[in-house]
Amino acid sequence: MAAKERKIPAPAVTLETKAYWDAAAQGKLLVRHCTACGEKHHYPRTLCPFCFSDRTEWSEGSGRGTVYSFSIMRRAPEPYVMAYVTLAEGPTMMTNIVDCDFDTIKIGQAVKVVFKPTEDGKPPMVMFTPA
Ligand SMILES: [Zn+2]
Repeated sequence: MAAKERKIPAPAVTLETKAYWDAAAQGKLLVRHCTACGEKHHYPRTLCPFCFSDRTEWSEGSGRGTVYSFSIMRRAPEPYVMAYVTLAEGPTMMTNIVDCDFDTIKIGQAVKVVFKPTEDGKPPMVMFTPA
């Protein structure tokens, strides 16, 4: 099954996530980490979801990860792939797998980040493609 381009709605940007989306617009994937307990998390939050500390900071991720799980949405007008990708840095994020033959995607497969333009312009959506 081939990937067709589909319209992607722009993400909702909040004060808490603005830096994340600004970085995405520059082709960088940021990961939020906690200086109190050392854990990294996604989606980005000011309060650490592990220890509830507010001592959290941004760091630049490698953009590398592996497919944890995925599902091909074959009945959508433009079929697409929903997936959980575990980043090399540790957190697992919900995303899409794009720019590949969907039938070749496998759990555990190495993927790399790509930034896809959204319907309403910036910021782009964070997605992954086979590495
Ligand atoms: Zn913490």
